[in-house]
Amino acid sequence: MTGPESEESPVRRAVCPGSFDPITNGHLDIIARASRLYDEVYVAVMINKSKKGLFEIEERIDLIRTVTAEYGNVRVEAFHGLLVDFCKQRDIPAIVKGLRAVSDFDYELQMAQMNNGLSGVETLFVPTNPTYSFLSSSLVKAVAAWGGDFAHLVPPEVLTALTERLRED
Ligand code: ADP
Repeated sequence: MTGPESEESPVRRAVCPGSFDPITNGHLDIIARASRLYDEVYVAVMINKSKKGLFEIEERIDLIRTVTAEYGNVRVEAFHGLLVDFCKQRDIPAIVKGLRAVSDFDYELQMAQMNNGLSGVETLFVPTNPTYSFLSSSLVKAVAAWGGDFAHLVPPEVLTALTERLRED
């Protein structure tokens, strides 16, 4: 047979990058949506040596693995350095990012253009589920630290881990 039908379709891969300190329902919503659009989705957890997070990288990875296990096609890895190198090494042509508000746009646009200029990798923006448009890891940590209710903002495993971590501090 000739024509496009005869060609084996390549595996479609994408990456969702971030700090995930810790993963929130906003992150999870983007990862879940990406997992329906792509064959394989990598969650790349950024190692930032100059900024110590509340959770160690391995703890963040464990939490993400637990809460994304049901999707089956999500892989979680740490990365440091350039995201485009992470993409090149794994043959990933697309970065998927959530856009929460106009305030996200300027910086995200710059990064997308820089990454495309560096390596040709594309960035696809997914509009945030309005339920989570105000949500960030730092805001969740702030609410939690002051004893506010954040159970509806994170997966149950994160609720437990964050409550325990703040009790230890
Ligand atoms: P944050 O502290 O803002 O949560 P991250 O670096 O962990 O920072 O976020 C990584 C990426 O995850 C963001 O660039 C964005 O694409 C996506 N993201 C984060 N929070 C949300 C949200 N509430 N809704 C949709 N996407 C989000």
